[in-house]
Amino acid sequence: MMKRDILISEVGPRDGLQSIKTVMPLAQKKAWISALAASGLREIEVGSFVPAHVLPQLADTAEVVAHALTIPDLTVAVLVPNLRGAEAALSAGAHKLTIPFSASETHSLKNVRRTHAQMFDEVRGIVALLKAHAGKRPTLEGGLSTAFGCTYEGVVPADKVVRLAAQLCEAGCDEVGLADSVGFANPAQVRDLVVRVRAVTGEKKFAGLHLHNTRGLGLANVVAGLDVGVNTFDSSMAGIGGCPFAPGATGNIVTEDLVFMLESMGLHTGVDLDKLLEARKVLAAAVPHEELYGYVPAAGVPGVRA
Ligand code: ZN
Repeated sequence: MMKRDILISEVGPRDGLQSIKTVMPLAQKKAWISALAASGLREIEVGSFVPAHVLPQLADTAEVVAHALTIPDLTVAVLVPNLRGAEAALSAGAHKLTIPFSASETHSLKNVRRTHAQMFDEVRGIVALLKAHAGKRPTLEGGLSTAFGCTYEGVVPADKVVRLAAQLCEAGCDEVGLADSVGFANPAQVRDLVVRVRAVTGEKKFAGLHLHNTRGLGLANVVAGLDVGVNTFDSSMAGIGGCPFAPGATGNIVTEDLVFMLESMGLHTGVDLDKLLEARKVLAAAVPHEELYGYVPAAGVPGVRA
């Protein structure tokens, strides 16, 4: 197997697809996920266990998980907003569960209609469920969203994020990650907050960064994360997606651009850029009416013209 310095967790099939109008048919989702895995991506967030009326785009997540589990050496990750979602994820056999936890309580109420106290109840319920599950149990990440700012509350104090990260660990999360769900983060803030949060979670329990490119700072924020030793980043093929509940927020960082940047810097991602661009064709064919982003796909990889 290829040497890898950085783990890229592809979130397009979840974060991307939940935010576009097109409902991608199951067969195309399977083909896209297979193509993503074939490029060397080793972790893919393939869906979310939410009621179909909330996100019809992800109503077939159990079937998508079943397909992804047939791909060797792939960590199959899913989002679960609550205990009920975790029960579904467990019976589907997902390897990794992430529960999104908004550092901004206003965003939490708008997004999942729960206060922080209610969210901690959900987390503790999921932890108990996983503990009771004999044999191989999935890991649980607490994904602290709006960790760098919120469309409703504006500034989210770093002290609050640090406290919530510590509480998520105490509640039994295996890992805690930080998400810039609405694209407010800047590089100085990323360095500062990662260092402070990791001081309470410890190195092993810090899951990584989920960054958006809403204001063009996505890759600058990745470099800031690298500066302080972060080695796991979420991104979305073609930058599709965003948070449907945060007005004005569009676009995860683009996986193709992220792979290009990291590999150019001499870091190994294990991802083959040519094969990744093949996977983009599968996506483009499946969602022909959706806008696809990315500089590297548009400009090509630099080379000398013959
Ligand atoms: Zn996102």
